[in-house]
Amino acid sequence: MTTVKRIDPRRPFIIAASGLRRITLGDDRVADATNAMSFASARGSHAPAPKPRRVYEAGGRSLLVVAHSDRGALDEHARQALAAAAIVADARTEVVLLVLGELTDDAAALGADKVVECPALARPAFAPDRALAALRDCVAAFAPAHILMPDNATGDGDLGRRYAAQAGADIATHVVEIDAEHVGCYANGGRSFATRAWPQVILLDPETVSSKLPFVGAGERVGVPASGSADANRYADRGTNQLDAAQVALEEADFIISAGNGVTDIAAFETLARALGAAVGASRVAVDNGHFTRDKQVGATGKTVNASVYIAFGISGAVQHLQGIKDCRHVIAVNLDASAPIAKRANLTLIADAQTTMTALTQAVEDAKQGRAVPIAPAAGTNLREDVAA
Ligand SMILES: Cc1cc2nc3c(=O)[nH]c(=O)nc-3n(C[C@H](O)[C@H](O)[C@H](O)COP(=O)(O)OP(=O)(O)OC[C@H]3O[C@@H](n4cnc5c(N)ncnc54)[C@H](O)[C@@H]3O)c2cc1C
Repeated sequence: MTTVKRIDPRRPFIIAASGLRRITLGDDRVADATNAMSFASARGSHAPAPKPRRVYEAGGRSLLVVAHSDRGALDEHARQALAAAAIVADARTEVVLLVLGELTDDAAALGADKVVECPALARPAFAPDRALAALRDCVAAFAPAHILMPDNATGDGDLGRRYAAQAGADIATHVVEIDAEHVGCYANGGRSFATRAWPQVILLDPETVSSKLPFVGAGERVGVPASGSADANRYADRGTNQLDAAQVALEEADFIISAGNGVTDIAAFETLARALGAAVGASRVAVDNGHFTRDKQVGATGKTVNASVYIAFGISGAVQHLQGIKDCRHVIAVNLDASAPIAKRANLTLIADAQTTMTALTQAVEDAKQGRAVPIAPAAGTNLREDVAA
């Protein structure tokens, strides 16, 4: 089954802080402004103006957003659920965020007014009863009017359904349309569209909301007394299986190294991928040249990936390629040309030869594995450029 992300043309609109608008491929005015400010600041020009704090009257109602974190950060889908609450919240509503796992992200910047952190419930530990108990404790403490969660397959969608079933709460799942009054989702296998007033629990599909906010929340860290109501451990957590990175579908890979036309030593590239335990991707030119099979192609006519780390060796960063990596968290580019478009998207750019860099990296990984960790000395002519991540 393919998991390539598609924008559904029948989806009516996306909610953004600037109002409702027809869905686009992810660019909006606020995002553009934010990016422009990031690049401006990275290049030493004027610093972006701080965003104003969203003010609300204490003692009003609250909206609770619940999501697992991943190594201290919320993924884009969870950020969208949080942004939905922050956008819809009125002057008497506070937005409370319950994080299952650690949170090192700036919660205020993501729109949260209060943050409850449960580091012990981090993925990949499988503890549905304890997560449910933490959610119930938060509901008891804040009496939220509604609960919003990302409808994902990595724990949050399951938790929302468990909570609704146990609490007898009404729920809307796979919500693709939301505003202050109603939510909407497809019904009858996608043949019709159903809307209703906000239920108690709302599970949002990805890309329903723009996570870019023109304001910040209060971001206050708070604790919630645990009721100790977790049911006896009814599940055995048997851990996770480690797969060979080469067998992981590109769309699911967390760490990808990708080769473009600037990579001539394919054997060295593949050796590096094995040493790093990274999945392999490629640009269309590298695929057309016969170096990689078509299923490795990343981009508009290939796979859309959302790795935490994506290293692009010798890839120019054509718009069709960038489309495939728009959801990647950290992009590192290795390119001889400092003005290649990939450098604008990358969080870190190495102006260096791909072949030399790959060999040096493989050596450094082998050294580290054998306990001979030595800092990598940049080869002559290597230049580093770090851009502020948007
Ligand atoms: C309809 C359509 C759909 C497309 N879909 C896709 C798609 O899904 N995915 C995709 O990738 N492309 C796609 N393309 C093609 C896309 O437009 C680009 O042509 C392609 O991405 C370029 O691949 P590249 O960056 O590897 O090669 P090039 O454009 O040739 O760039 C090579 C880069 O490597 C650098 N370089 C050269 N030598 C070295 C070295 N020794 N060390 C380090 N860097 C070096 C160069 O500075 C350059 O930036 C599509 C095009 C069209 C028209």
